[in-house]
Amino acid sequence: MLTDNHGRKINYLRLAVTDRCNLRCFYCMPEEGLNWLSRSELLTYEEMLSVCSLLVKMGIEKIRITGGEPFVRKDIMQFLTSLSTLDGLNELTMTTNGVLTAPFVPELKKIGVKSVNLSLDTLDANRFFAITKRDEFTNVMATFEQLLKHDIEVKINAVVMDGKNTQDIIPLVELTKDLPVNVRFIEEMPFNGDGHIYTGLQWDYVRILDEIKQKYPDITKLTDSPYSTSYNYQVPGHRGTIGVIAAYSRTFCGTCNRIRITPDGELKTCLYDAGVLNIRDIIRSGATDEDLQNVLLKAFSHRPKDGWEAEKNRSKNLPAHESMATIGG
Ligand code: SAM
Repeated sequence: MLTDNHGRKINYLRLAVTDRCNLRCFYCMPEEGLNWLSRSELLTYEEMLSVCSLLVKMGIEKIRITGGEPFVRKDIMQFLTSLSTLDGLNELTMTTNGVLTAPFVPELKKIGVKSVNLSLDTLDANRFFAITKRDEFTNVMATFEQLLKHDIEVKINAVVMDGKNTQDIIPLVELTKDLPVNVRFIEEMPFNGDGHIYTGLQWDYVRILDEIKQKYPDITKLTDSPYSTSYNYQVPGHRGTIGVIAAYSRTFCGTCNRIRITPDGELKTCLYDAGVLNIRDIIRSGATDEDLQNVLLKAFSHRPKDGWEAEKNRSKNLPAHESMATIGG
């Protein structure tokens, strides 16, 4: 079993396969996009498979593929298929915006993907366009339908933004009435990629929950799973459930079991750190698996206690406002 210097189990890897995205959610990246990584800067699929295989041998049990948008990287399905055969990997899952995903759902089912996080901040096509700057609402809803049809568990991720989509909170909760979905409301974080100063959080998890309780005062608290980042609830009689994620308030660091690898191979042992080592450079310098394992173990034994400490440790030149697409949200 892999543990860190605070005795926390590490068994979950979030791997971002690209920084590119086909949406321009304003809270994630500027409308003109990012200064995209070149192909040679990206980890190759072969490198990703090799590091995933090593990490699974070391104790990683669950891998989430994310980005950027995973489906904009060419041949992603082939990579996922190879990954799904790794011995010892108990769960392969992904986070997607759903724009290109619908046609791949049957294949995802076939390779054993049991759960997908679908990002959807609004149920209104006009607000979807205002938030994402792209007219793709219909395609995202088609992915939603396909996932449900193929019995893949769906978690909807909705970032709550003052003046943008708070009127969607209740309609999103109402999705859980007849559908077996888990709708998760996420606090907005400063990772917007355009360097603008984050002026503080208007909608924290307490306010989001209060808003839901005004309409549904009798929502019941569910037991959260041991490494859950969300506080989970259910409206009595509803099929689905609701989660609230204190991503900015950082209330869940004490049980954090996850590490991240960015598209260019940076290892992050906390969402808020600036990267602790570069796996791509280590692999390309000719390191053996044993060399890589040793540096990884060293990094895991120096994990910050929480996201506040990680943010404080960042150099002044690297404030925490890179895009979530380069981190792997
Ligand atoms: N493209 C995929 C998607 O949209 O699901 C995966 C990558 S995206 C960066 C992963 C998640 O990060 C999405 O649910 C997105 O809403 C969330 N995210 C991006 N920027 C964020 C921010 N500043 N605060 C909170 N969540 C954010």
